[in-house]
Amino acid sequence: MAVLESALPLASRPAVAGSALRTHVGMTRERNEDASYADPGHRFFIVADGMGGHAAGDVASAMAVDGMRQVLQESAEELDLFACAPSESGRMRIRALLENAIRAINAEVLMRGLREPDKRGMGTTLDVVLILADEAFIAHVGDCRTYLFRDRFAFQATVDHTVAQAMHTAGRLSAEEAAQSPMRSVLSNSMGACPNLIVDHVTIELEPGDRLLLCSDGLYDYFTADELARCVTNHHADRALAELIDRACVRGGHDNLTGIIVEVGTQPAPRPTPTRPTRAGRRSRGPLSGVDDTDLGAFVEHALFESSKPHRLPSI
Ligand code: CA
Repeated sequence: MAVLESALPLASRPAVAGSALRTHVGMTRERNEDASYADPGHRFFIVADGMGGHAAGDVASAMAVDGMRQVLQESAEELDLFACAPSESGRMRIRALLENAIRAINAEVLMRGLREPDKRGMGTTLDVVLILADEAFIAHVGDCRTYLFRDRFAFQATVDHTVAQAMHTAGRLSAEEAAQSPMRSVLSNSMGACPNLIVDHVTIELEPGDRLLLCSDGLYDYFTADELARCVTNHHADRALAELIDRACVRGGHDNLTGIIVEVGTQPAPRPTPTRPTRAGRRSRGPLSGVDDTDLGAFVEHALFESSKPHRLPSI
């Protein structure tokens, strides 16, 4: 994907230097039920994975991506306001905007599934990354993943909403057992399944040189975090994605594969005035901050949970 100049004023421009998006049907599926979008202005990025085995998974994933894109485009003014003057109350509003949009789209997917018999039971997962100033807001439903790569370390920023992950969290499976369990592909939470879905929110304070990867399970299933980090940090975004997809197809390509890589520039965007408030009031330290003080739903509180521990790369 070509790098396009943002139409935003310089002061509110995100620190993203470029991005790339690739999707592939894989080696065994007849249709690609993943949907994705990368904002040409580098402000937001979306990956959705239509639920395999369900009717019209591609319709559900397209509804999720199109619905989120529309909401975020129509909210440009509010997003600009936060980017120019970040505040804790502004963060709450941004998370509420994402949460409300996801809940509204979830209701639409549910209703359409009920109205149209050929789409009954359709569903989708969804990861959204919204970048404002030097902060990345992640909203997550299901088993797509968002990774942060920093200083040769890989952090998994999202927790899979799967039965295997729930069993691991409950102490009934080790991380290795969960990664191999057939329950890893059984979703415990998704859009289109019920009205009361869970939306996880994660905020990342971006640093120059960071990279983010949003991807569907068909892509990450074939790689360790070390392998992902090695590929993503050693190549430009588009080449890294091409290599990951090629390797995943060689290893089987059992599912649709979609990835978006976001490159944070070496120099963050200039800080506008008024300057942001101190971060002293934030509850967690480190690159990943969950939120735990609102009634917006269930949030992930993970400074560093087990599967997100940094993975050091071997010397190259
Ligand atoms: Ca999939």
